[in-house]
Amino acid sequence: MPQRFLILGVLLYIAWRLLRGLFREKIAAEAKKQQTTKVAGSDVQDVLVEDPVCHTLIPKHQAIRLRQDGTTYYFCSDKCCDTFIGKQGEET
Ligand SMILES: [Zn+2]
Repeated sequence: MPQRFLILGVLLYIAWRLLRGLFREKIAAEAKKQQTTKVAGSDVQDVLVEDPVCHTLIPKHQAIRLRQDGTTYYFCSDKCCDTFIGKQGEET
């Protein structure tokens, strides 16, 4: 029965292709995992800073910085930064 062998061969080939695909995905997933753990590690080291306008705590690297009179202020958004600058303008 040569036809049966042919079908078996095709099935084996498909199975091998699928396994190889799964293996590749696994490697890719693990590589991604390592990358995300690296990012998470730097997040742990990152310092939380307080927004002086809405008093939200934001990771320093994500915050919007404003240097004024030698002091650096950190904001959660441009909106808060603008509000802060606006308030300062009103006071002086
Ligand atoms: Zn804010």
